[in-house]
Amino acid sequence: MNKVYECLVIGAGPSGIGAAIKLHQERVDVAVIEMSTPGGKINIAPRVDNYPGQHEIPGPDLAVIFFEKLMNEGVEFIGDEITSLTKEDDLFVLQGRNDTYRSKTVYIATGTVERKIGLPYEDELFGKGISYCALCDGHFFKGQDVLVIGGGNAALKEAVHLAGITKHLYLIHRRNEFRGSNKIVDELKSFDNVTILTPYIPLEFLHENGKLTGVKIQNKETLEERVLTVQGCFPLVGQNPNTKFINLDIKNEWGNIPVDKSMSTSVSGAFAGGDVLPRDIRQIYLAEHDGMVAAKSILEYLGK
Ligand SMILES: Cc1cc2nc3c(=O)[nH]c(=O)nc-3n(C[C@H](O)[C@H](O)[C@H](O)COP(=O)(O)OP(=O)(O)OC[C@H]3O[C@@H](n4cnc5c(N)ncnc54)[C@H](O)[C@@H]3O)c2cc1C
Repeated sequence: MNKVYECLVIGAGPSGIGAAIKLHQERVDVAVIEMSTPGGKINIAPRVDNYPGQHEIPGPDLAVIFFEKLMNEGVEFIGDEITSLTKEDDLFVLQGRNDTYRSKTVYIATGTVERKIGLPYEDELFGKGISYCALCDGHFFKGQDVLVIGGGNAALKEAVHLAGITKHLYLIHRRNEFRGSNKIVDELKSFDNVTILTPYIPLEFLHENGKLTGVKIQNKETLEERVLTVQGCFPLVGQNPNTKFINLDIKNEWGNIPVDKSMSTSVSGAFAGGDVLPRDIRQIYLAEHDGMVAAKSILEYLGK
């Protein structure tokens, strides 16, 4: 494609869609490029119910609303996966599987992908006991027994959140020391309904009638195995940002993209926002916020 866009948005999740709509409304020549189902990660959320402005709604239904809004506004939508992003002679070059695209600015809103444990039935039990978002899905397990797998700050914080609503919370971590802060470990230990088990790893997801019924775990030192009877399991061993395709020097050591207050990256004309940023809380309204701030900054950058 020979055309040079004023802005190309990579990723049609809430952040990319929000930015693209604002830019289009301000007469910027913009298009959104999406490799999968438009609407982003909420497509895998069984229910979204902490999003102001919507009653409880299945994630995929909300994704459709986002996409319909994009289409109704008349924003150009391109279905393609970007496999490389470079900057040549002041223009960004986006190599897709189907075409090559060029633009004066880019908004990178490609989100993250959950790091999986990698055990059998993990995918099948997703939404049927297994969840990767305690903040979003924790209340489904009110008064039930759940297991959190992980030892970083995110896992510990989400475990604290879950401890307040579940009957009993187990947390297993593969090391005796936690990566997360001692303060949060202490906070977690202060709950009467919490059992912390280290150094344990998950061995098997147990299930009946398509639902999670327990998790077999193993002590890494003694090799002792035991079964935890739980209705919920939250593998919170991290998220990987979708940034492998980026050949610009804008990523931190984990692949996330740090930005300043205007959503600018360290490369002039490249902006980023949403879940792809280094942050603890990942929610729709934060992603939308970033998209709006980025749109304003892109307008300024383009002199509009
Ligand atoms: C199970 C679950 C439940 C959740 N529930 C809630 C909730 O109730 N409330 C709430 O506020 N938040 C919830 N969230 C979090 C929310 O979904 C995210 O914070 C939000 O979707 C982030 O938006 P984003 O636009 O930054 O990224 P995403 O929504 O992840 O969108 C990124 C998009 O970029 C695309 N993309 C990635 N790489 C490329 C590429 N190379 N080329 C083209 N396209 C690409 C992806 O396909 C994706 O569509 C939940 C998350 C999960 C996993």
